[in-house]
Amino acid sequence: MSGHEIRELFLSFFEKKGHTRVKSAPLVPEKDPTLLFVNAGMVPFKDVFLGIEKRPYTRAVSCQKCLRVSGKHNDLEQVGYTSRHHTFFEMLGNFSFGDYFKELAIEYAWEFVTEYLRIPKEKIYVSVYKEDEEAFKIWRDSIGLPEDRIWLLGEEDNFWQMGDTGPCGPSSEIYIDRGPEHEERFLEIWNLVFMQYTREKDGRLLPLPKPNIDTGMGLERISSVLQGTKTNFEIDLIRPIISFAEEVSQKEYGKDFMTDVCMRVIADHLRAMTFAIGDGVIPSNLGRGYVIRRIIRRALRYAYRLGIKDSFLYKGVDVVVDIMKQPYPELLQAKEYIKGVIRSEEERFIGTLKRAMPLVEQVFQESKARGFVEGSKVFELYDTYGFPLDLLEEMAKEEGLYLDMEGFRTHMEEQRERARKHFKIEVSRTSPVYEELKAKGISTEFIGYTHYDTSTKVL
Ligand code: ATP
Ligand code: MG
Ligand code: MG
Ligand code: MG
Repeated sequence: MSGHEIRELFLSFFEKKGHTRVKSAPLVPEKDPTLLFVNAGMVPFKDVFLGIEKRPYTRAVSCQKCLRVSGKHNDLEQVGYTSRHHTFFEMLGNFSFGDYFKELAIEYAWEFVTEYLRIPKEKIYVSVYKEDEEAFKIWRDSIGLPEDRIWLLGEEDNFWQMGDTGPCGPSSEIYIDRGPEHEERFLEIWNLVFMQYTREKDGRLLPLPKPNIDTGMGLERISSVLQGTKTNFEIDLIRPIISFAEEVSQKEYGKDFMTDVCMRVIADHLRAMTFAIGDGVIPSNLGRGYVIRRIIRRALRYAYRLGIKDSFLYKGVDVVVDIMKQPYPELLQAKEYIKGVIRSEEERFIGTLKRAMPLVEQVFQESKARGFVEGSKVFELYDTYGFPLDLLEEMAKEEGLYLDMEGFRTHMEEQRERARKHFKIEVSRTSPVYEELKAKGISTEFIGYTHYDTSTKVL
């Protein structure tokens, strides 16, 4: 079954069960300034769950674009290394707003997985919250799942909360046994949240008069199960982007672990940047814009590792759009714009990368025996080459090194001090250079109110 078919099957299955199909909201939350990106299917329904907003339906189904790169859910550093994490992914979900509850939610999930997706029953395991006897009994008695395939887990894994206060409740997760040959043998595919309490300021749990259901299943994970791939990255929705990376790098996927990691990161980040820019994010030094800038830079540095030294990401947008244009036709309209944004961003950063990388490699080499990179070197790379610290830190980590940030700060302070002293001397007279420029009619514009350098942000 193709990814597109699975998505459609899910949406139409729940439509048949009386759910209204709701289009994915944009990745940038429309109403929630506290959240950088939508990271779950329930986010666009938050106000409905809180009872602030009324909708003409009590059952909904959606396939929501998600990005987990910041805040509570940040999977950025897992991408490429695990078989199941992306930054950008699609979350399938069914929702009940005070309509059906635990019993039906579990029955629907079971019916969909075993009868529609035809996953063999003996491969299915579930987890339930250790105090949720009700869910345990539904799985054991109504569904008939053997007790030894029901794991009882604690709050950490199976208790969901919207925030420190507000709606919360136990959850139950569905896992697929992919066999002992898999490193990640039990794959979590679907999370069913039973929103039945509200937590008060004093910590008490009060039952909600009308409990809700919120579920989420990763489309890429379930596709990987049905398509029998080793990781999410070989499914039909992603593999063509890996092939694109193979073509550009002239390297083969599936032969060497680090090569595979690099290609997976490139494929993942290409999806993320395409969708985020398509939804209106512009790379910048702040907030959402910085997250996307970081994603683009990360993709480039993994590409550099594969020997790719020229801009190429913008061409990958064609591949992403080609795969995703059917469910997301808005991408087609925005394609040339997205490519333009990515191209100018990558062209700017590739210069920095090319200039700095020989020194980065040399510095890492010299730091091996010491175990860390000296503050003076960090400062040089940052100050002279404009190399982003977050990227440097990640790269050092890969080499088993850390950055001496204490030393870095000392150098930064010293430079500030020098600049202050210099400034005191200079204020009394204008530098002859400026007089000269002024005479030639050349002036500079102060843009500090609207723009600033990354150097101010990361500290
Ligand atoms: P995991 O434990 O594997 O990190 P999770 O418990 O953090 O997953 P949930 O928050 O329960 O995930 O999200 C619901 C579903 O969304 C998961 O069961 C999974 O199928 C999917 N999902 C979550 N995070 C990712 C991700 N980073 N990439 C792809 N799919 C994901
Ligand atoms: Mg997770
Ligand atoms: Mg989990
Ligand atoms: Mg989960």
